[in-house]
Amino acid sequence: MIPFEYHAPATVGDAVAMLAARDGAKLLAGGQSLVPALTYRLARPGVLVDINALPLADVVRTNGHVRLGALVRHHVLEESPDVRRWCPLLAEAVAYVGNARVRTLGTLGGSLAHADPAAELPVAMVALDARFAAVGAAGSREIPAGEFFRAPLTTALAADEILTAVDVPVTRGAGTAFVELARRPGDFPLVSVAAVVAVDRAGRVADARVVFGGLAGAPQRSAPAEDALRGHEPTPERIAAAAHAARRALRPETDVFASGAYRAHLAEVLARRALRTATNRALTVEVR
Ligand SMILES: Cc1cc2nc3c(=O)[nH]c(=O)nc-3n(C[C@H](O)[C@H](O)[C@H](O)COP(=O)(O)OP(=O)(O)OC[C@H]3O[C@@H](n4cnc5c(N)ncnc54)[C@H](O)[C@@H]3O)c2cc1C
Repeated sequence: MIPFEYHAPATVGDAVAMLAARDGAKLLAGGQSLVPALTYRLARPGVLVDINALPLADVVRTNGHVRLGALVRHHVLEESPDVRRWCPLLAEAVAYVGNARVRTLGTLGGSLAHADPAAELPVAMVALDARFAAVGAAGSREIPAGEFFRAPLTTALAADEILTAVDVPVTRGAGTAFVELARRPGDFPLVSVAAVVAVDRAGRVADARVVFGGLAGAPQRSAPAEDALRGHEPTPERIAAAAHAARRALRPETDVFASGAYRAHLAEVLARRALRTATNRALTVEVR
């Protein structure tokens, strides 16, 4: 390991002051991305600011939202009865992350701030229209999930900002689903899809959100798929047409794991599955 200074502040204010005071200082949360990066010399911070002592691990329901602290561990999202009831998409998505060891240590804030283009939680947060709370030397601000992810491993956070919490609207009257395909269980997926579908009393789609992961540098919302559904009865044919419309608008790149053409094919198949499941759940949804 490269030598570095280590600090473990007890308040968010102290952590921000340490980030602001030192160029290249890095936050350490669950360490599941940062420690491998240190080991392989991909990151060489002179200062590590360990945020594990900060009071940012609560799950609280407020006014139609769930506030998730940045230090909520992946396994809490997976197992908490409250998260499963209020935001079932998050519990479903996080179950695909890594393995039990990674989910025991990894944090929500770390996953979102790391912004791996194939990671599951960013895709789910964009689909749920979450808002991110950040604190920096210049004060606090909110960032919509749709504006947070800029490029691979790049977010809207400034170098001296800490992601402190995420506000997720409680899922009411909608069905949600998350599906993905990875080469081996626990790997980052080749493609993932999150779907949120609300159906009105006439049996037509009142609203739909379809978001892909693994196809570009950041989660990609599919307006063509959403437009193909809104106002229509969600029949299998309509869902297949929406998934096809999504595929036609995608231009995934080829990399060492899969060709762009294969990823586009997967996107259509997985979108169809996610939309079918979300629609079935919407039609049987309980009033929460
Ligand atoms: C074997 C293995 C398999 C994995 N598989 C998957 C997978 O399938 N899907 C997936 O999504 N992830 C996967 N991961 C990554 C895992 O989800 C990490 O937990 C996550 O990416 C980072 O969270 P962390 O808390 O460990 O953050 P850390 O590693 O501590 O930090 C990651 C980065 O985020 C910054 N950071 C951390 N917290 C904050 C904050 N609150 N505010 C601002 N910046 C912050 C750090 O400075 C660092 O740059 C895997 C990891 C391993 C080791």
